[in-house]
Amino acid sequence: MTALDLGTVLVLHKTSLLAGAGGLLLPWLGGGRPRGVGTLAVGYLLLALGAFLAGLGEFGAISAETWRSSSLALAVFAYTLIYCGIRRLDRPAGRALWLLAASPVVLVVGLLTPVFDDNTLRASAFHAVAALAGLASAISLIRAGRRERLASRAPLAFALGACGLVYGIQFPLIALGFSSPGSIAIGFAVTMMLNFSIAALVVSFVRERGEETERRRSVTDALTGVLNRHGFRDAVPEFVPEGAAMLLLDLDHFKSINDRFGHAGGDVVLTRLSRIVEACLEPGEILARLGGEEFVVFLPHGGSRAGDLAETVRIRLADAVIDWRGERIAVSTSVGVAHASPRRSEGREALLACADAALYRAKRLGRNRVEIDGAALSDDAERPSASWQGVTPHFAPG
Ligand code: GH3
Ligand code: MG
Ligand code: MG
Repeated sequence: MTALDLGTVLVLHKTSLLAGAGGLLLPWLGGGRPRGVGTLAVGYLLLALGAFLAGLGEFGAISAETWRSSSLALAVFAYTLIYCGIRRLDRPAGRALWLLAASPVVLVVGLLTPVFDDNTLRASAFHAVAALAGLASAISLIRAGRRERLASRAPLAFALGACGLVYGIQFPLIALGFSSPGSIAIGFAVTMMLNFSIAALVVSFVRERGEETERRRSVTDALTGVLNRHGFRDAVPEFVPEGAAMLLLDLDHFKSINDRFGHAGGDVVLTRLSRIVEACLEPGEILARLGGEEFVVFLPHGGSRAGDLAETVRIRLADAVIDWRGERIAVSTSVGVAHASPRRSEGREALLACADAALYRAKRLGRNRVEIDGAALSDDAERPSASWQGVTPHFAPG
């Protein structure tokens, strides 16, 4: 097997830094400036510049003092930018920005003292900084992964961590004098390949996040933030499990609220209703706005508490103090409740139609009341359970 030539590997390594910078810059320029990506691109560009200066210095094209201190200071600056850029993919760089101050310190020390004339010390410092940046970036990505799962997050963290690890292994070898041109070439060859993957993975990371944002937007109601009709269809199975229930809510005389308080006042009512219902739900229960002033709640296992829940929402909304430009908007809702059979799964749309029939009855019987659909219950004598029977006078099980 032919040994890797260090000179060739270093040239290719610079190419990987430039390609990485270019690969990041293009989506940044053309794709809505995703945060962190521009910082990363500049970081990689400066690393390439530092490596280029070091190359010029080796050939004697620039003075030894200039390139020794400036290329190391540039590398420290670039790795700090890379770390800050990775952090900014998930959150503000915050106090990490203070690390940028390390670069001028390195420059001043390099220019005023002969400390970086020592090749071993200089190379060790470079590898230590690169190792810390890679490992810290990987940790930052993994920690943010608890809040947002993206398919490319783990591979990106792995590539950055692996890069940091390679530099971290090289560091003691160089510092203790165990390295050779061959071992250094292997290290740079591996990090070169990782640089290409890091750039590609950052691009996928940003694209995936954009797609996820779009997907979420397409299933979310822009006014209230709850699921819309598409989101409801996505979240609720076509055949609901046995024991499930559905509540259909429709605000009473909402048109006259709009007429009296304006559309903006009506919007405040819709948002408040959403918050009131959400506050009553348990994990796994789903609220969606089907359109206009009509909302649906799906309880996958909450059949026994559906009636109580409907009544609680009705009362909380009727009691809610909704201030609008110095006036109180008084509002009420009618609710239709439908239960799936406790013994077999039922069609989602059929259950919705049952809830709609109950809602229609609630409207007809005077509004501001809860009606339980009887049709869906006809073949199951044990439903309705005692827990939702006989609540307030408004509550009238069907
Ligand atoms: P009912 O008690 O029979 O349900 O009467 P209603 O007035 O509530 O029902 P109707 O269907 O006649 O009116 C619904 C109104 O909801 C009409 C429409 O202008 C209003 N609406 C629909 N979407 C929105 C919205 O996003 N914001 C506001 N403010 N109003 C909306
Ligand atoms: Mg209405
Ligand atoms: Mg309506």
